[in-house]
Amino acid sequence: MKIRLTSLLTFTQPYPLSRSEAVVEPIHQALSEKSLLPSEHLMDLGYVTAGHLVSSQENYEVELIGPVRSDPSWQTKHHPKFASSNFQIDWEKQVAICPRGHTSQTWSEKTDKKGQSVINIRFSQSNCGVCASRSRCTRAKTEPRGLTIHTQKEHTALQNRREVQNTPQFLKTYNQRAGIEGTISQGVRRSALRQSRYLGLAKTHLQHIFMAAGLNLCRLDAWLNGVPLATTRYSRFMTLKPKTS
Ligand code: SF4
Repeated sequence: MKIRLTSLLTFTQPYPLSRSEAVVEPIHQALSEKSLLPSEHLMDLGYVTAGHLVSSQENYEVELIGPVRSDPSWQTKHHPKFASSNFQIDWEKQVAICPRGHTSQTWSEKTDKKGQSVINIRFSQSNCGVCASRSRCTRAKTEPRGLTIHTQKEHTALQNRREVQNTPQFLKTYNQRAGIEGTISQGVRRSALRQSRYLGLAKTHLQHIFMAAGLNLCRLDAWLNGVPLATTRYSRFMTLKPKTS
């Protein structure tokens, strides 16, 4: 039986990853220690990285379900044919082949600012210098095109996720996050969840437990008294928008 988990947690320790990215491993570690690991974990956009897609599966047998960020490069926006996803990667030979069919010249493994292993690829000056597509492929004045990609497992996981994350089937599964988003919203509006009234993680954690217990009682009361679920709320600005049929 598949067990799904939806979560939105905060963590205050400094990490080289962004704060939301950095909580994924501690969440899974904590769940593992309590034998509460789910088989699927629905996470928000800011939490899912290529590294997490691989490490969650390998270390905890947890499938992360959530969208990854789209490629932010200017090529993706203006000349998608020259985005890094359109370069073929030959992992065995350690070369990339560009959309014009040229093979890369150098391939070097490095560590990026976040401490993650990446691969820097560079094409040759002799090909890029005279390429008719140069202005659509690189903005470097004289240098050839360079690429930075994840290691093989992460690169593959990232590409696969980008391909499926807008399909109806994926969205149907991911829509189950709506439940936890509603819960967080209720916590923020009814219990001022965003602010801790105490100093220190231990007291803040206790505050969160009391809040959760209180919200459960509110929900039980609403359910017993037949209070209908709230509908989606829109800002005043949004309500001015003309309705389309
Ligand atoms: S600029 Fe270089 S990498 Fe880009 S398409 Fe031309 S030859 Fe290939």
